[in-house]
Amino acid sequence: VILLNPGPVNLSERVRAALLRPDLCHREPEFSLLQSSIREGLLAVYELDPAEWCAVLLTGSGTAAMEAMLSSLVPSGATLLVVENGVYGERLSSIARIHGITCVSIQHHWTDAIDLDRVAACLDSIAGISHLAVVHHETTTGRLNDLEALAGLCSARGVRLLVDAVSSYGAERLDFEQWNVDAAAGTANKCLHGVPGVSFVIVRRPALARDSLPRRSLYLDLAGYSKAQDRGTTPFTQSVQVFYAFAEALAEFHETGGRASRHRRYRALAELVRNDFSGSGVQPLIPAEQSSVVLRAYRLPEDLSYEHLHHALKERGFVIYAGQGELAWQIFRVSTMGELTAEDLHRFTAAVGECAKGASQRSG
Ligand SMILES: *Cc1c(COP(=O)(O)O)cnc(C)c1O
Repeated sequence: VILLNPGPVNLSERVRAALLRPDLCHREPEFSLLQSSIREGLLAVYELDPAEWCAVLLTGSGTAAMEAMLSSLVPSGATLLVVENGVYGERLSSIARIHGITCVSIQHHWTDAIDLDRVAACLDSIAGISHLAVVHHETTTGRLNDLEALAGLCSARGVRLLVDAVSSYGAERLDFEQWNVDAAAGTANKCLHGVPGVSFVIVRRPALARDSLPRRSLYLDLAGYSKAQDRGTTPFTQSVQVFYAFAEALAEFHETGGRASRHRRYRALAELVRNDFSGSGVQPLIPAEQSSVVLRAYRLPEDLSYEHLHHALKERGFVIYAGQGELAWQIFRVSTMGELTAEDLHRFTAAVGECAKGASQRSG
């Protein structure tokens, strides 16, 4: 079956085979080497200097990394500004509130780009904002938020950026040095093509060394993880087999040309889908220039419900992804991550075309 949902993705054979390596105790030196190789491989995705940056590995899904990032890095007494334009931005606010972090949220309609004037006005009128949290690629709509512009507003005011890069890490441009990024959250099973179960936070080392660091969680404490992982150990049991697969996925990522090559490959596949769809009248939700290369949202063809389209496609071997909230009955989403080919996607768009034609004949 071809997975067009935003993770978990179709695995390559070499990544799947890595799951079957020998049993291993997480207190043995072989695990230590495995863990270190993943941490180095992750920093190498954005050519980050290990003296300045640290990759923290967590057993948990992408949300665990988001929660570890916010709960560990926003100082007690400081205010967090969250910019929301979709489900995941709203999740950042929920996490902050659950941990008792003082949080101001700037809300947008899910289909809207971030209003930079509103962000600037908030930064100027609210005292004590230490960090701004935002989603890089908002998977709700496929929008790639303009972090460069946001970072400009933050840098000018000494505000640090906390980025949910769960669905962009490895495929979209992220300028950690220039954009005042303190941390970014990511996961194994999206653009990096690993198995679900491990997520990570890339943290600027000085951000972990501040005196005012709070301790709001035992399991998700980034400072504790980073100290243990720098010593080659882990505070808690990690998902060993998922680590094997992640190391293999990162090796494959780097051997096949790294981030630039993955970005090009996703772009080509996303554009293929868009071009094929425009031939059969399936419209994108937001313009291509504002979209990621990772996932795109399309309006459901007339007279075709999501359920009908989903089931018809699943019978033909393709899994699409529903919209959330109000978008549930308006759109479907197509991710081009994972072990997919252009051929697979041409077959997919042809199948969507048939379903749309069938629907218009039935209603006509
Ligand atoms: C997938 C995703 C997450 C994490 O979801 P999990 O189900 O916890 O892995 C977080 N943020 C974004 C933008 C995502 O696309």
